[in-house]
Amino acid sequence: MTTSAPLEVSPIEVRHLIGGRWLPGAGEERQNPARPGEVVSTSPDGDSSLVEDAVTRACDAFPEWAQTPAPMRGELLRRAADLLEARADRAARTLSREEGKTLREAGDEVGRGVRMLRFYAGETWRLGGITLPSMTPRTELSTVREPLGAVGIITPWNFPVAIPVWKTAPALAAGNTVVLKPASLTAASTAVVAECLVDAGLPAGVFNLVYGSGARVGEALVTDERIAAISFTGSTAVGRRVNELAARRMARVQLELGGKNTMVVLPDADPEQAADLCVRGAFGLTGQACTATSRVIVLPENEEAVIEALRRQTSALAVGDGLDEGTQMGPVVSHQQLATDLRYVGEALADGATLEAGGDHSDLFMRPTLLSRVGPQSAIAQEEVFGPVLAVVTVQDAAEALAVANNTPYGLVTGIITNDLAAAMEFSRGAQAGVVKVNRLTTGTDVNAPFGGVKASSNDLFREQGVTAMEFYTRVKTVYLGY
Ligand code: NAP
Repeated sequence: MTTSAPLEVSPIEVRHLIGGRWLPGAGEERQNPARPGEVVSTSPDGDSSLVEDAVTRACDAFPEWAQTPAPMRGELLRRAADLLEARADRAARTLSREEGKTLREAGDEVGRGVRMLRFYAGETWRLGGITLPSMTPRTELSTVREPLGAVGIITPWNFPVAIPVWKTAPALAAGNTVVLKPASLTAASTAVVAECLVDAGLPAGVFNLVYGSGARVGEALVTDERIAAISFTGSTAVGRRVNELAARRMARVQLELGGKNTMVVLPDADPEQAADLCVRGAFGLTGQACTATSRVIVLPENEEAVIEALRRQTSALAVGDGLDEGTQMGPVVSHQQLATDLRYVGEALADGATLEAGGDHSDLFMRPTLLSRVGPQSAIAQEEVFGPVLAVVTVQDAAEALAVANNTPYGLVTGIITNDLAAAMEFSRGAQAGVVKVNRLTTGTDVNAPFGGVKASSNDLFREQGVTAMEFYTRVKTVYLGY
């Protein structure tokens, strides 16, 4: 493991953004997970009255923003993209220090935010409806997509730049105003996005940011009757709660939740190349991605070779401070998450799994952990860990591999590694997942492609990203125009 001397950088003071004004508040400290004692940021802890103010400002700003010609809204998003690109180094360093991911991973995330802003800036030129033939003579029949109003957005800590952008950009492009409640652990990373939107010239009140605990600030946002829709990304447990609260007042809600993502390796695949895809998918981002590979399924024919390659590649990963150049995997985000990771490993070993690599830690630096001979029904094979832990399950054939891949409560990403086209197609058609990857990492998606899960990974009503995201943030109005 690599560590460096603490940086001498004073903490970033994060503020709420309400009606165009930056408001300070009592500070919550966030320490760098790689450098105990180094305070990266202090952020305010808001309350329900602050949420009320933010929603009022978002509602007040809505009529004018909705009337602003869509390409002009797009122009502001494009400017925000340029600013985020210009500030990418600072944003990536803040993200790495606050969340722990490596500087390269943080840079990739910021780059993705820039691409998202540009993508939705472009979409403002394409907002439109359809025209239809009417059965009534001299009647123009058409549809138009209209924004919903002030929308609430709640985001997790693991992509605190990219996720706020991929929800906010389509919301604003469509003409909605936004109140965002970001994750408390990574307040400063999301603040960089807010600064870019403000500096791009977004009118006051169009985008608002309120910090504070999920139970207090998040629930105040979800239950505010004036919030037209809620887009939430986070754990399935909290998603269920948000769903219940939103349903009581019949609000539109989008939920993207946890995952238990599987990679099947068929015997025709090269074990070394297959292990490379599994190891990068499992331990990239310290395994703290909803799309992380958390199970590998092998067959008796390739079990030994794949496990051997996985063990070697896993053990070779350099764990350390995300800011250090040689680091391939950063620390776990928090002591709470570390305890969860270690608990799952302990339970798996008690259930009879074999420890092939890792399993231990120093501070928040957990060694990438590989377990084999994992039972498909055990907790480690069924539940989301959200850490650097990879479980190998052995099955008898490709049909059983698909059945085991599908047999979890989740359905976000499922992958297969094979050159057998028929096997890949059968797997792809049969997979109970929102995203299927053949010979590609389970992690990573393109900005123009729909993204979302099935089963406990989503409420499965609206997809995020790509053009599809605009469906959540708009409603269809049908117009009959007689002449
Ligand atoms: P989390 O604990 O569910 O929190 C997510 C957000 O919800 C945070 O902003 C949190 O605020 C807030 N929150 C907590 N309790 C709330 C409540 N009662 N009402 C309203 N909001 C509430 O999730 P996390 O630990 O930040 O993120 C990890 C999870 O996100 C994993 O399960 C991962 O799979 C999932 N995830 C899914 C996707 C996807 O696209 N499917 C992408 C990334 C992550 P605080 O920060 O103040 O607690």
